Parts: sequence; C-alpha cells; structure tokens
Amino acid sequence: MSGTEADTGSLTLAEQYLTQPAPVRRIPEGSLTPRAALHILQSEVLLDGDPSKNLATFVTTWMEPEARTVILENLHRNFIDHAEYPRTAEIANRCVRMLHHLYNGPGEPEAPGTACAGSSEGVMLGALAMKWRWKKARETAGQATDKPNLVYGADVHVVWDKFCRYFDVEPRQVPIARGRTVVGPDELEPHIDENTIGVVAVVGTTFTGECDDVLGIDALLGRLRSERGLDIPMHVDAASGGFVFPFSHPEFEWDFRLESVKSINVSGHKFGLVYPGVGWLVFRDEEQLPEELVFYEDYLGERDATFTLNFSGSSALILAQFYNFIRFGREGYASLVRAMNTNRDALAARLGEEDALELLSGEPRLPLVIARVRDEEDFTGTDLVGELAQRRGWMVPAYEMPPDNEGQQIMRMMVKINQSRELADALADDIHVSIADLRKRAAGQRVKRPVHRGHGY
Ligand SMILES: *Cc1c(COP(=O)(O)O)cnc(C)c1O
Repeated sequence: MSGTEADTGSLTLAEQYLTQPAPVRRIPEGSLTPRAALHILQSEVLLDGDPSKNLATFVTTWMEPEARTVILENLHRNFIDHAEYPRTAEIANRCVRMLHHLYNGPGEPEAPGTACAGSSEGVMLGALAMKWRWKKARETAGQATDKPNLVYGADVHVVWDKFCRYFDVEPRQVPIARGRTVVGPDELEPHIDENTIGVVAVVGTTFTGECDDVLGIDALLGRLRSERGLDIPMHVDAASGGFVFPFSHPEFEWDFRLESVKSINVSGHKFGLVYPGVGWLVFRDEEQLPEELVFYEDYLGERDATFTLNFSGSSALILAQFYNFIRFGREGYASLVRAMNTNRDALAARLGEEDALELLSGEPRLPLVIARVRDEEDFTGTDLVGELAQRRGWMVPAYEMPPDNEGQQIMRMMVKINQSRELADALADDIHVSIADLRKRAAGQRVKRPVHRGHGY
C-alpha cells in the first residue's frame, strides 16, 4: 500500500479500488489508474510463494540488475521479425554456435539449432527432426512409415510422453527397475527396432539429478549400426545438465563427443541462469534438420526461414542468454556451478547427520540433495515438507519415484545460486527441528504448531 495517494478528491486509492474483490470473469467496463491496477495485482501475487524459498524449481529465480536491464529494454522486440531485427537473430545464432562448441560439436556450422521457448519446444522440434529423418530413410528404402516409435526410460520428463501423443509416435517407455533410478543399454535394447526414430537419454533427470548411462547407450547404438545396420540417433535431454556438467564434470562424455548423439536440448532458464522463457535445441550438424521442417515466409519484407512451433515471442530472454555468456564466460559459469555444489554439499552434510533421513549419493549429479525419510519413522516425506512450508515458507517437493519404485517417496532440494550458505543452514536447522517435532507428535506428545516467521528471526 506504499505510495497511496488521493486520485479523486479526498478518496484514497484504497477506498476507491481496493475494497472490491478482483474481477475474475469479465473484463471490467471501466478503467483504473495504472497505480491502482498495479496495487491490485501486486497485493494478490504476494500470496504466492517466494521464489527464493522455492527449492522445488530448476528454473532461475535470480538475475543480475544488468541482465534485468537487458530484459526490460528488449521485451518489446519480437524475436521472429528477423528482417527487422537482424542483429537479434544473429545473436541467437551465436548462442547456438557457442552451445554447439560447448558440447564439443564437430566443425563450425553456421546455425546448428534454434532458440526455443524452453526445453519442451526444443524436445518437440528435436524429436520431429528424428521422426522426419527416419521417415525419409524408410521411404527411400521403400519401407513402411506408419509405425514410428521412440525409446526412453521412465526417468524422462513428461514432455517426452507429450511429444509421442501430440505427434503420433509410439512411446516405448522402459520401466526403471526397482532400486535403480536411471536406465542404460541393457534395459533399452529389447525395445529398439527398425521403426525406432531415436533413443532419448537424460543427462540430469528431474527425479534425482542423475544421468542415464549415455556412454553405454552410445556403445549399444554403435553396435546396432555395425551389426544390424540400424542407424538410430540418440537425443540427449540436457534440460538441466547442459549448463552444469560441462563445468562440474568436463571429462564426462555425454555430448557430441559420442558418435550417436545427434541433438541436444537445454533450458536457458534453468542452469543457463536466465529467467523463464528460453531454451535451445542444438544439432550435431546441419544435416540433422530435414528441409521439410523449415518454413520460408516473407510476411515481414524479407524471405526468412523458421523452424519453430511458436511464431511471435520476445527477444528479451534470448538476449539475456547472450548477456550471461559474455558476462560470465566459461570461467564464470564454472565458478557459479562450484558455488552451488559447495552449498549443496554443506546442506547434504548437515542432513546426513539426521538419522531420520537417508541421502542418495553418487556423481555426476545436478546441484541438488535427494533425501528419503527412513521406513522406521512414523512420519512421511509429505509430513516433513508440510512442516517446512509451515515453519518458514520453504517449498520442497516430496514425490514418488517412477513406476516399479512405488513407495520410494523422496524429497528434492535444489541448491541454486540464490540459495546462499546461510539459507542452506537455515533450511537444515528447520529440518532438524521439524523432525524432532514430528517424532514427538507421532509419539502422542502435544507439540506447538510452528509459526511462519517470514524472513530472518
Ligand atoms: C525441465 C525439464 C524439461 C522441460 O523443460 P522446460 O524448459 O521447462 O520446457 C525437460 N526435460 C528435463 C530433463 C527437464 O528437467
């Protein structure tokens, strides 16, 4: 309510506008002053969680003031108007080339990929490219093209099932064996045949932040190529890992160093450290993109090629990605990933002292802590995260592992750059007290409900 002032005579904004419920069904007939509209909106959004305490999301919740300036100054620049904004188009291509280089792609292709709204659009486009390449090869060989399938583990993001349903491809989702959290060549091989348009491997899964056995899958695809003449591409879903592992584990070969990897998607808005709304699809080489998927139009004065699902969209986040690339450089990204991993390790060390919790370990992994409430306890992960939300507004997800691992409820705490050591320690303190309270309550003792203390003490 700061800045409230009289607009009409002696009526305050508060009395004029803030005494009514917000419109929910119809666009109001009349207009408001900008300030009243802003107050109404801001006061309502306050009821949402504070993104800084959201340890559930992989998505960037903090950017530098200069990056925010880039965003503010370019929100009105429509990215698709390549003819009008050729520099912006060129900057997007630079980002694609830089990623191609970061992922050890061969040669120096001009535009080996595209900017997207996020990894989901990148996945749709990358998978469509695989489908069309498969279709063309089958047609050329005079073979049927009515039964395409895509092979992946149950540890993938839901976007892969979505692609299969939207674009009419049979999803061959391979279950994760009990006790395992990722997939490798042995599980995938029986599902691959001549109708397989591609195999998907996840580098940094949504469930545990681990990686499918990309090296093993690459070896399998190499063998299928030489022994059975099946030429099947691998697409790597590096939505999160694509901006982590090149810096934290540069020796880990998951990218174009592997012969079978033909395309990679990465979310700029996850560890690319840009606010939500940008992702990337990167091809090994320009041959991976079938010409049929490129549309040419000249609505805006110049013949222009597009390979997207969306049309108009802001340039702001794409330009902010380039800002980050030149601002941080590889050294800066490496330093930021180290900082996240250091705080992740500090949080893990504290939680490792809790005998109620069991921690998942193993590298390479995204900067997150995965914990499970031991079976002996009389409370669940859901109880614990509920307690944490109540205590200080922490948002920590508790969820089930993929099918065949039912009952394996885990909690995931993502440690992003805004999760400072102080915040990690505060979370560990709150987890400690919450566990003690939950145990007392389970033992029938009366325990005072925690009071949300907001920021600090
Ligand atoms: C987040 C994520 C996606 C979806 O990415 P968006 O950028 O949110 O569209 C896909 N795959 C994995 C592994 C992810 O972590």
